[in-house]
This record gives sequence, C-alpha cells and structure tokens, in this order.
Amino acid sequence: MSHIGHFIGGRAFASAGPTQPVFNPATGEISGHVTLGGADLVDQAVAAANAAFPAWAATPPLRRARVMFKFKELLEANTKRLAAIITAEHGKVLSDAEGEIQRGIEVVEFACGIPHLLKGEFTEAVATGIDAWTMRQPLGVVAGITPFNFPVMVPLWMLPVALACGNCFILKPSEKDPSASLVLAELLTEAGLPPGVFQVVQGGREAVEALLDHPGVEAISFVGSTPIAQTIYRRGTSAGKRVQALGGAKNHLVVMPDADLDGAVDALMGAAYGSAGERCMAVSVAVAVGDVGDRLIAKLAPRVRALKVGPGTDKEAEMGPLVTGEHRAKVHAYVDKGVVEGAKLVVDGRGLSLQGYENGFFIGGSLFDNVTADMTIYQEEIFGPVLAVVRAKTLGDAVTLINDHRFGNGTALFTADGGAARNFASAIKIGMVGINVPIPVPAAFHSFGGWKASLYGDHHMHGPEGVRFYTRMKAITQRWGANPGAEFTMPQIGR
Ligand code: NAD
Repeated sequence: MSHIGHFIGGRAFASAGPTQPVFNPATGEISGHVTLGGADLVDQAVAAANAAFPAWAATPPLRRARVMFKFKELLEANTKRLAAIITAEHGKVLSDAEGEIQRGIEVVEFACGIPHLLKGEFTEAVATGIDAWTMRQPLGVVAGITPFNFPVMVPLWMLPVALACGNCFILKPSEKDPSASLVLAELLTEAGLPPGVFQVVQGGREAVEALLDHPGVEAISFVGSTPIAQTIYRRGTSAGKRVQALGGAKNHLVVMPDADLDGAVDALMGAAYGSAGERCMAVSVAVAVGDVGDRLIAKLAPRVRALKVGPGTDKEAEMGPLVTGEHRAKVHAYVDKGVVEGAKLVVDGRGLSLQGYENGFFIGGSLFDNVTADMTIYQEEIFGPVLAVVRAKTLGDAVTLINDHRFGNGTALFTADGGAARNFASAIKIGMVGINVPIPVPAAFHSFGGWKASLYGDHHMHGPEGVRFYTRMKAITQRWGANPGAEFTMPQIGR
C-alpha cells in the first residue's frame, strides 16, 4: 500500500501527522494513504519557493521554454504510466485518462512559446528624447488548488504558464487522487527545473487555508466546486492576493428540431456519460426545443440502457465508477430526489452491480424526462451520469432558461440554422459555447473559463489570459541626454 507524500525543495517525502485513505474506485479497496499537510509544510514550501524565485525569474524566457520542451517530451513518454495512475485513483477509463493528459500537454506546448508571449510594447519618442515600453514580470510564489476530476489536466492548465512566466508554483492537488501530482514533480525535475520552483503540498482544507493566508503567496488559481471557489476568492482577495477561482457547472445542450438528431444523440451520450459525468464541461441538461423531445428520448433511452460500464482498465468500458462511495451515495440521492419531485425517470442507473466488482463505486447511467426549472436535479450540479431532458417551446425560451441558471460554464446548440446559431452565441450568458460541438473546451492557446457562479475572478485559465494572470505589467519611460531642468507642470506628451 502506498504512502503518498509531498514534494518540497526538490525532495519527495511523507510527513508525520494525519493521513487520509485513497481508494481504487473500481474495487472499493483502499490503495494508499495520503499525508495531509498543514501550515508548517506550507511555510516550508513557500520558503523554498521564495529562495528559488530570484534565479528562476532571472532565467531568460528562452531557457525556461526549453525546460517546458523537455517536460512535454517526458509527459509524452510517460503518458501510459500517468494514465494508469489516474485510472487507479479516479476510476475513469484509460483512453479518457490519456485524453486528459493530451489536453494538458497542449498547455505545455503553449508555454513553450513564452518568449514571444512575454514581449512588451515599445514606443520610440513618447516625448522629445523619451522612449517608453511595457514589460511583464512574474508575480513570485503562486499556488494552484485542484479538483479530483482531472488530476493531470487541471494542474497543467496552470503550472506550465505560471512557471514559464518565471513564477514558482505550489500545487495542492485533490486528496482523492493525489499520486499523479508527484509524477509531474518528478518529470519537471528531470526536465531541468531547479529545486523549489515547483512543489507539491498534499492536504485538504488546512493546507488550502494556510496557502490563502500566507503573506508569501502572491496568487491563487483554484478549480473545484462553487461553494469552495467562492470562499477561496473572498479569503484570497481579502488577503491581497490575485485570485482566479473556477467553480461548478450545469451545462445545457439545446437540440433544435432541424438538428441532425443522430449527431445530437451521439454528442449527448459522450458529453453526459463520458467520465461518468464527472467533468465540469459534462452536459447534464438537454433542452429539447419544439417537437423534437419525443424523438430525442426515443433515440436516447436505448443508448443509455446499453452503456458499457466497467473498470477503467477494461478497454470495452465507456464509463467507469464514480470517485468515492460517498460521491456515489450523493448521485444516488439526486436520482431519488428527481423521482420524488416528479420528473419522469426513463432510465434508472441505480442498483447497478458488476460481477467481480461488487464493492466498486459504480452507478449506471440515468435519464430523466420532463424536468422543470424548479427541480433540485435541474438547479444543482449532480456531477454524475445523470441527464435531465427539459422541454422548451422555442429557442428563445431555451436561451432564457440557460441565462437564468446560476451556473455559466459551457453550453451547446445543435442546429442546421446558421442564423439561429449566431443569435444563440451572441445572446447566451455562458463562458464557453459550442455550435454542433458538445464540449466546447477551448484549445490551450485560447483561454478556459465560465461566467456567473462558474468563475470568480477576472481571468480565465491558460492561453493569453493565463499569461496575464501570472504576470504584472510594468511601464517604463526613459530619457537619456540633456537635463530638461525643473518642470513644475504635469509632463505633456509630445513636447
Ligand atoms: P472540491 O471543491 O470539493 O475540491 C477542490 C479542491 O478544494 C480540492 O483540492 C480540495 O482539497 C479543496 N477543498 C475542498 N474542500 C475545501 C474547504 N472546505 N476549504 C478549502 N479547500 C477545500 O471539488 P472536487 O469535488 O474535487 O471537484 C469537483 C468540482 O470541481 C465540481 O463542482 C466541478 O464542476 C468542479 N470543476 C470545475 C472546473 C471548471 O473549470 N470550472 C473544472 C473541473 C472541476
């Protein structure tokens, strides 16, 4: 059984003190224990990062980019190993785990372009004999707090950009699947990153609060559920830090009567049930517009019944278990609640038992019809393989429904009408929009982020927004030459 520890000052170690079990969700067995860090370990990590910061910040961006190039190669070479670790602790199927690593690698590729991205603007002669330019400098020590559902991709939304910009980065991974973070530390070290520049502190609330309160931490990137995101944003900003806190989601996919229905059903199956619905961009609501509802349900129901559920290591499986027994109980309770509140349960995923994996945290796919906006299963994020179909008379009604929802991460419209698509993209109050694309996760060189209760803060993650978040702008105005003498008026441009 493994003992999962921290990585501080270029060294991996397990601290004394409290631990928490880590499960293999497919078998329900405890596979290891993670040591939970507190304020003392955060102090150690910040001290090591502060010591490493001046030299790393002064390292030319081109050389920092070379470390990223090497890191990318190592991630590619270690993809199978990392995917096996993700599947063992998260439960998702191996191909999906490889997919998340690939999306993470794409952010590393983006960070390889950092010399270009850090270029400032220069103006010759803003005034007679005076030139001016801007430059972007790293913040210092920054921290990332990440969720269980993407133990590699979400840290890689943050750390390649933060490091390439010249910051030192402390990662506080999810305590539910903490092992992959240590492989990232190992590969970054092998890529040539100096000790102290990237560190891992394992833990839960105590470690997070220590990071939020620590005066040596300049910025916090958070991805997780909305209540925690809100707390992190408030506490971090009141301590004077820069904070981006991405929260939960309830993503709607609107199906128009003119849509390619088979295409929409394929899209819904992957987006609602892939990764057992444990994705922040999972589609959890299908909005059937006009008369398409009955046809949609008729095509969806047999597909949901036929979902291949199995351990993540089974190549045939389309969907693995949920992450913990506790989470499965929560998803189960939501399905119960949907029935009590009057939604029509077309496919019931409760009670699924897999031979040989009776103790695993499996649940089958569920499909609800006639869900309405006042129901708990519509309002709250379930984060499981449960799809709710809501009927809407018109596209306008669908847009109002989505805009009134408190979450604003992603949405999609399936239609054959370009004009409708254009209006939808313009009117919808959501951060990421897909037109005939179910999970519109922006590429690494764009930026990822939602609106409303799905993001607290001003910056989206990775891409150009990531570079802005992890740097401070400085404007320099410079004169060489003759002393202009004392000037008692406000300096005037162009004189
Ligand atoms: P979570 O909020 O429970 O945990 C996220 C992180 O916060 C973990 O590192 C955890 O240790 C820490 N944490 C938990 N409770 C805390 C507390 N009371 N105080 C301080 N820190 C605490 O989220 P999760 O269950 O790991 O992940 C699932 C959630 O993340 C879902 O809501 C999902 O939508 C969201 N998510 C959002 C995005 C996005 O981009 N918006 C991406 C992935 C996941």
